[in-house]
Amino acid sequence: MKKKFIIVFLFFIVYGLALWGYLYGASAEIPRELQGTSADPQTFMTSKELLLSEEYSTIRNFLSLLSAPYEWLIMLFLLMCGWSRTFNVWAKKISKRNFMQTVIYLFWLSLATLILSAPLQWVRYKLSLKYGISVQSLHDWIKEQFIDFWFNYVLMIIIIHVIYMLIRYTKKRWWFYTWVLSIPFTLFLTFIQPVVIAPLYDDFSPLQNKQLEEKILQLADKVNIPADHVYEVNKSEETNALNAYVTGIGSNSRIVLWDTTLERLTDDEILFIMAHEMGHYTMKHVYYGLLGSLVLSLVGLYLVHKIMGSLYVRYKKKAGISSLSSLATVPLLLLIISMLSFAASPLTNYVSRVHEKKADEYAIELVEDKEAAVSSFQKLSKAGLSQVNPPYLVKFFQYTHPPMLERMQYIQQHK
Ligand SMILES: [Zn+2]
Repeated sequence: MKKKFIIVFLFFIVYGLALWGYLYGASAEIPRELQGTSADPQTFMTSKELLLSEEYSTIRNFLSLLSAPYEWLIMLFLLMCGWSRTFNVWAKKISKRNFMQTVIYLFWLSLATLILSAPLQWVRYKLSLKYGISVQSLHDWIKEQFIDFWFNYVLMIIIIHVIYMLIRYTKKRWWFYTWVLSIPFTLFLTFIQPVVIAPLYDDFSPLQNKQLEEKILQLADKVNIPADHVYEVNKSEETNALNAYVTGIGSNSRIVLWDTTLERLTDDEILFIMAHEMGHYTMKHVYYGLLGSLVLSLVGLYLVHKIMGSLYVRYKKKAGISSLSSLATVPLLLLIISMLSFAASPLTNYVSRVHEKKADEYAIELVEDKEAAVSSFQKLSKAGLSQVNPPYLVKFFQYTHPPMLERMQYIQQHK
């Protein structure tokens, strides 16, 4: 198995090289009919920004499309080189109780994953600093990694303990029970998290600019969104990115703006962005998203059950794993889940892009201000140094929003 891992590693290197070649060679040229229009970055970015956005996007795209296969590489390393089995042996030596074994096993697994994925995380952090996207200090970044580590560790203990208990006791039905248990969890993440958990991390306060708040609330009133306040979040110490959203259920809606957005956009531009977010809210995109993710996770978990079962039968001897419910199979479970979600990402991204386009259409019809719409897209592109016209595979696997070029063209052509 150890020798076979070398082959896997070589595959990864070849993939990396091919990916780099593709991204580096992909043309970022703007279609001729759009050259010189306000959708063309030449007209709103300085030549330095243009250069930086191409350079930054190429490296960032490379790292994002590398990160999932890199994760698979780590899981395969832990499985094929015997580390996962070793962690399980250590856990069994210390405790006879299933729960304690999970706690110990996952500690080693999380630590190993942290160490092995650290290089990629570090490069990403340095890159977003270098190009001015992030302004987070090293101290804050390390603190965030530290909090993430412990948060994910505790979450993993709960999830893995439950799943492996189900595998042990229900054998063939575990995937279905796991899915049933995941429903309240998904509902919590969608509806409660933004209103209850997010304020624990960030500083939410009522919008200071009362004139703007009044305008936003008038807009909300026009489309029957129940809201008494607009909130601003202090994000400028962390990032230069812009964001705004409308969240919540029923009478519990909440309109939120990042302070970075308030600093950089004019009132009219903010109103357009808010109208877009209100579009998502009134067209109930969050419910479609929820329904979609429940269906996908049902199918996904069934496939995980099938694939994991057959791989286990095939490789149990070589990998020295005695039972499917042994914790040593955790990296296999994570590997299959990660691969399936990667495979599903073009579909989920596509649906998301359709929703985004609908929200743009809704917004332009609500505020009827093409100029503010286009200039807000221009500013969003500048702030994120984003590629207005990304290579096809990047859009296919990564873009939850239509590229800015398409969004600006759509607004311009809207009657
Ligand atoms: Zn949107």
